Amino acid sequence: MANCSRRKLFKIAGAGSLALLLPSFVQMNTALAQDGEQLDPENAQAKALGYKHDTNEVDNAAYPTHDVSQNCANCQLAQGAGEGDWIGCALFPGKQVASGGWCSAWVAAQ
Ligand code: SF4
Repeated sequence: MANCSRRKLFKIAGAGSLALLLPSFVQMNTALAQDGEQLDPENAQAKALGYKHDTNEVDNAAYPTHDVSQNCANCQLAQGAGEGDWIGCALFPGKQVASGGWCSAWVAAQ
């Protein structure tokens, strides 16, 4: 009976520790995304998505749905938007994109 209670106590303690660590892990991942090096527009994935550091430099003929009001800072995939000139992006883990940048995966932030 004492063993059963001890086992139960360890289970509760383990679950509690995990619950305490999870928010820190999420914050750490967000921080890593925001602290990464700046995305090189010549990066293969960046080029494939037509990424530009400046939304004003996007070729509207190639991307007819693009509008200069669209940028990384108001994109749903941005991480840490509004915290400076460079922000994280879900599509480019470990890199930073220009808050005034754009790529063809842009989706309006909700
Ligand atoms: S997905 Fe959004 S935040 Fe990421 S590079 Fe493209 S426009 Fe910028």
